[in-house]
Amino acid sequence: MHKVDVLIIGGGISGLASAWWLARSGLSVEVWEAGERPGGKIMSTRQDGYLTERAAAMVLNFRPEVAELVREAGLEPAKTARQPAAEVRRYLLHRGCLKALPMRLSPMVASPLWSLRGKLRLLAEPFIFSSGRTDETVSEFITRRLGREVLEKAMEPFVAGTLAADADQASAAAVLPRLMALEQRYGSIGAGVLVNRILRRRTASVTETFSFRDGMGSLVEALAKTPGINMRTGHVAQELARERDGWQATAATPHGQRSVSAAHVIVATPAPAAVALVDPLDNELAELLRGIGYAPVSIVHTGVARDAVQHPLDGAGFLAPKGESATLTGNLWMSTLFPDRAPPGKALLTSYLGGARAPHVADWDDARLLDEALGTLRSLIGLKADPEMVRIDRHGEALPMYHGAYQARMQAISARLQHIPGLHLEANYRGGVSVRDRLVCSHAVADRILGARHWPSVERKRREEAECRAKTVCGLGAMGVAAE
Ligand SMILES: Cc1cc2nc3c(=O)[nH]c(=O)nc-3n(C[C@H](O)[C@H](O)[C@H](O)COP(=O)(O)OP(=O)(O)OC[C@H]3O[C@@H](n4cnc5c(N)ncnc54)[C@H](O)[C@@H]3O)c2cc1C
Repeated sequence: MHKVDVLIIGGGISGLASAWWLARSGLSVEVWEAGERPGGKIMSTRQDGYLTERAAAMVLNFRPEVAELVREAGLEPAKTARQPAAEVRRYLLHRGCLKALPMRLSPMVASPLWSLRGKLRLLAEPFIFSSGRTDETVSEFITRRLGREVLEKAMEPFVAGTLAADADQASAAAVLPRLMALEQRYGSIGAGVLVNRILRRRTASVTETFSFRDGMGSLVEALAKTPGINMRTGHVAQELARERDGWQATAATPHGQRSVSAAHVIVATPAPAAVALVDPLDNELAELLRGIGYAPVSIVHTGVARDAVQHPLDGAGFLAPKGESATLTGNLWMSTLFPDRAPPGKALLTSYLGGARAPHVADWDDARLLDEALGTLRSLIGLKADPEMVRIDRHGEALPMYHGAYQARMQAISARLQHIPGLHLEANYRGGVSVRDRLVCSHAVADRILGARHWPSVERKRREEAECRAKTVCGLGAMGVAAE
């Protein structure tokens, strides 16, 4: 039977990034992906000169691990930064019209979007006491700290539009861990942001939003092609069994069954697929995973003539709060966000529908989805003509909703895993759904595996690299002598 150090089940960004960190250290890694291509939800498609994204469209990064992976995977030259217009402005649907949503505190306080009462409430934030609770929902936490207006006009649309979740049910500790940490550490979000801004300036750590010239697909494609990663598509993992020294896993493949023996296994699938694999090993763990709900999301990409839109499209796009009764949770102006997303003189507008707010949208056919998206764009940004390019993507289980006592569920999952050495669960239902969080969490899981035992292959790779460095230094030394 084929033997590897680590087998990874699931070839989305979580599985591929885990594979990348491990292979880079010298471990032999095999990735099983049920689908025909690596990348999972992430896929970039070129159609009629437009570049569309099926899931993640960009990375908002402030973590060194992400910068390291992008650099070391050779992706730096392929990176493309968010364009300046999209950097500074995004819009909010407010009383049926789009209003600029200020991204910084001082213009936020001056903005007509907030009532005087809302502004005063915002300024009172540093004087609000901590509740001492760790089980607050996003709505409870934001209303307590920043007031009802910030919840309704900023946080609820953000949670619905970017996480497909419901602020009234989403766990603040799971969805807003950094804001909660600021409260715990500094007693106030505002004070914490200020202190962090000063510290960050000192450590020169950069925050940037980027994609790649050929879209986010470049990231998953580059990782899947990394030397040392044996990428197997069309491999549907069916069974995991403990062995004396690790694991044996079996997959259904187009060529029949394939079994592999591995010291460690990372299950990097969505929770429902993980349930089927871990149920025979640990019923309680399977039960905890079963309780994670997912929301469906449908995406309507429309390519239009730029002059058929009255709005200046001078921002990242807009979000729609619940109270505005729009079916769209948001619309991103992709051609403003990044260069070359649309042919010259055209615009690419991407609408998101569904999520926890409107799961029934998943049952709509393409014509109804398009009608709904176009109706909203006509009334909000003055779209005057029919689109010349339409593409519709659907995810039945788009994103895990971090609803209920989510942190307690995650802690219970970690506790169960303590009793199953060599088994790891690494996907977007643990530690954040964003690509940034996926890269950071996969780095942590790789670290745990590397530290779990002595790996002769890692030792060998380190030795070879040290010898190579020494040879280069000697070579340079010799060249120096010759030059003298
Ligand atoms: C519409 C949308 C927009 C988004 N926008 C952004 C954004 O702009 N920025 C951002 O940072 N994030 C964004 N995200 C979030 C991000 O794209 C996802 O959280 C991330 O791609 C999920 O990666 P994953 O590897 O955890 O899961 P997946 O991508 O779902 O990968 C899991 C893989 O496991 C495979 N699998 C399942 N069962 C088996 C099995 N039995 N055997 C083998 N393989 C199996 C599946 O086929 C799949 O390929 C967005 C998500 C969506 C849905």
